Amino acid sequence: MSWTPAREDFDNYMLPNYSPQRVIPVRGEGSRLWDQEGREYIDFAGGIAVNGLGHCHPALVKALREQSEKVWHLSNVYTNEPALALAKSLVDKTFADKVFLCSSGGEANEAALKLARRFAYDTFGEAKHKIVSFRQSFHGRTFFTVSVGGQPKYSQGFGPVPGGIVHGEFNNLDSVRELIDNDTCAVIVEPVQGEGGVTPATPEFLKGLRELCDQHDALLIFDEVQCGMGRTGQLYTYMHYGVTPDILTSAKALGGGFPIGAMLTTDRIAKVFVVGTHGSTYGGNPLACAVALAAVETISQPDVLKGVEQRFELFKSHLEALDRKYGVFKEIRGMGLLIGAELSDAYAERGRDVLAAAIDEGLMMLVAGPSVLRFAPSLVISEQEIEDGMACLDHALARLQD
Ligand SMILES: *Cc1c(COP(=O)(O)O)cnc(C)c1O
Repeated sequence: MSWTPAREDFDNYMLPNYSPQRVIPVRGEGSRLWDQEGREYIDFAGGIAVNGLGHCHPALVKALREQSEKVWHLSNVYTNEPALALAKSLVDKTFADKVFLCSSGGEANEAALKLARRFAYDTFGEAKHKIVSFRQSFHGRTFFTVSVGGQPKYSQGFGPVPGGIVHGEFNNLDSVRELIDNDTCAVIVEPVQGEGGVTPATPEFLKGLRELCDQHDALLIFDEVQCGMGRTGQLYTYMHYGVTPDILTSAKALGGGFPIGAMLTTDRIAKVFVVGTHGSTYGGNPLACAVALAAVETISQPDVLKGVEQRFELFKSHLEALDRKYGVFKEIRGMGLLIGAELSDAYAERGRDVLAAAIDEGLMMLVAGPSVLRFAPSLVISEQEIEDGMACLDHALARLQD
């Protein structure tokens, strides 16, 4: 390449809807990344909970390489072997009987919400269309999903929002009792709110939602786009809670970095999506499905899932040690390798400063709102990589003292 792209070119050529950091990573391996200058970084972000097996995991590289020499795309006029193998694997491992494949989390939720509306429409009639969601929730950036999401800043300024959507308070069943009625077609919830601040649902809350949905013939949708795919130490988080949804959405770590999304449901509900009701050009793309199958098979190995719990303990003890040193955290929460560390009052709203200092020290991490540091590393991050990353975070916090 005679021309080397630089950070300035983002401002020159791309829409200003993101504000990327100064460094441009060019290569990754496991939980390490290198930028254009060859500087090394530890990755505690996993591309926002996407690179569930780190960068360039050998099983995923192999699947992608092999499929890339067979067939890349067919359209939904045909089916293909990787899509069928992935769908079978997800059905074998979960409550689901049927799978719809698409290319992102937002698209999976769009499909879930449309399916819930159509199921209610076909089964009970037009009046049953209400959707109950939660404040602080995040379900994607399509217009339907930002409207259902619980952060108004994402849906304001785009014209009239779709109707029939109400928002309750997460982890508060009374607020749901006030909103749900026989016109409710679905309740959608993240078992662990990710973008909203890394807040796990209480077991009573999810059990209560299941009961309320059953009482009102409403479908329970679990958005496991961020918390699913092994992140909390089970293949899907509903398995921890023993509460089974009617529809589950998956994406992010499902493709380990290759764009893919999936919506899982039961036969009873799936059957209303007859030919022509919904679709997606890239849904079931053979490259994406081959990589996702390798990711699902690798992540569902018992030693990978068991390792998540051990790594959580390691993260927690390091973060507690940093807190003893700097008094920086109010609360450390989350499940498995989806961890939120809420900043103490002395550091309130300074998440972005910590993030910037961490990058200077060679660590990539995340925030979830202005006052919560978020960690969503590879599920197979090594002990050494965790220690190296925590040393960087230590240096970053030291710098914020002056
Ligand atoms: C990231 C995310 C989405 C949106 O996924 P995209 O792939 O960005 O469309 C939806 N729900 C949750 C819980 C997420 O974390």
